[in-house]
Amino acid sequence: MTSKGLSAASKQPEIIAVANQKGGVGKTTTAINLATALAAIKKDVLIIDMDPQGNASTGLGRERNDRAHSSYEVIMGEVSLAEAIVDTVVPGLHLVPSTIDLTGAEIELVNQDQRTFRLRRAFRDPVLENYDYVLIDCPPSLNLLTLNTLAASHSVLVPLQCEFFALEGLSLLLQTIETVKANFNPSLKIGGIILTMFDKRNNLSEQVAIDVRNYLGEQVFDTMIPRNVRVSEAPSHGKPVLLYDLKCSGSQAYLELAAELLKRYNANKKE
Ligand code: ADP
Ligand code: MG
Repeated sequence: MTSKGLSAASKQPEIIAVANQKGGVGKTTTAINLATALAAIKKDVLIIDMDPQGNASTGLGRERNDRAHSSYEVIMGEVSLAEAIVDTVVPGLHLVPSTIDLTGAEIELVNQDQRTFRLRRAFRDPVLENYDYVLIDCPPSLNLLTLNTLAASHSVLVPLQCEFFALEGLSLLLQTIETVKANFNPSLKIGGIILTMFDKRNNLSEQVAIDVRNYLGEQVFDTMIPRNVRVSEAPSHGKPVLLYDLKCSGSQAYLELAAELLKRYNANKKE
């Protein structure tokens, strides 16, 4: 018998989807900065970019012409998960980048067996034992890529932008999560709802936050991510905001969010 797989270093990562079929609500920003905050407290973290737009890849300093393998090839079974992993500008944070090829995956998979379980199958790779957290950045749609992600995850985080239509479409997402639970992944949990782009000078933002908390209760994280220009500037420098400007309110909020996430997830484990 070998000691492989039994060593103290082998881990069972918490696999977390960051999903909302609305675009521009802060999924990618949350995936990148939550992952960076977790890496900053010495967790080993992997981000998987499942959006053909590749914003998580760019935002972590991986230029388009610097992506040898991608999540597309992983989904199609052309390379293993381990082969697709690259370093990022953040120590302790690794990435499976995406490319525009991923747009074709949906059509190419349509007649294939087990098409919803492609990502889960890729996750049989022992390389996952190197990680504490895997965060998956979903595309802005409830397509086959999102279904693959939900079928392969332990929990889902849902960013909601503090704007008038925040809750619009949420019931469809919650319904999709229920369908995935019923058909593909019974233990899938909602890890929490994250209020993003909160603007305390704006009464509407405040009212939306109150309404969302009344409606969704405990599921909503106490930490809110403020609207902060530094957060929106960081991606064009190929850096998470935590590296771009650690002191700004956005960075501080993502550090707080990571601490709250650890607290919530550890409490759930004890239940
Ligand atoms: P999604 O992945 O849901 O489409 P993004 O994370 O890409 O959303 O965010 C949409 C836009 O809003 C991006 O330009 C991003 O830089 C900006 N943004 C996200 N969060 C904040 C924030 N807290 N403050 C200011 N701008 C933000
Ligand atoms: Mg995105």
